[in-house]
Amino acid sequence: MKKFEDILFFTITNRFGGVSKEPYDSLNLALHVGDDPKSVIQNRILLAQKYNFSIQNLIYMDQVHSDKIVNIQTPAINKISKCDAIVTNRRKIPLMVMVADCIGVLLFDPIKRVIATIHAGREGILKNIVQKTIINMQKSYCVDPKDLIAITTPSIGVCCYEVANNINLDLKSTLKEQLLISKVKDENINISSICTSCDKNYFSYRRDKITGRFALVAMLR
Ligand SMILES: [Zn+2]
Repeated sequence: MKKFEDILFFTITNRFGGVSKEPYDSLNLALHVGDDPKSVIQNRILLAQKYNFSIQNLIYMDQVHSDKIVNIQTPAINKISKCDAIVTNRRKIPLMVMVADCIGVLLFDPIKRVIATIHAGREGILKNIVQKTIINMQKSYCVDPKDLIAITTPSIGVCCYEVANNINLDLKSTLKEQLLISKVKDENINISSICTSCDKNYFSYRRDKITGRFALVAMLR
């Protein structure tokens, strides 16, 4: 991704470097999990200062495990209600997806210069949110899926995601299959192998129940 550094900024946070107290310690970026809102805002400001993006322009979602996708034309509204994917071709608008076990996905087209951030958990994957976002990017921004680069956050691994007696779901592989079906090239798919439930550097809802959210933030420069 280094060769795209001049046109794309992105980062995936972990749980360190913020001001939130237990059990949200310390870089919790979500306002909806019961943490002190002042701490969350301070954490977002710290992140914006660290990476030099505008906190005023930061767009995040009221994530509801839906398949709703919103195209962002202006940073006028920071919180997009009830959606799970946001897409833009505008520069200087950071898009954020917050997770703790679900998969945060970045799709980036370096040719058309379009980005999307997606919240893909079990329900979102069942609803094909990533495929639907790619279709939207084709229709709205003339994106060719063959140009797309996909990057994901750490997420819950098959090792820890039991959904019935001895039946474990593999969200990572399912997501990869969906990207391949959508004609994203294998060599452009970067699925993090880190399991959030195993790795205590990340928040995990399944492991800790009351906990924070880490995030993927992406922006066209
Ligand atoms: Zn695990």
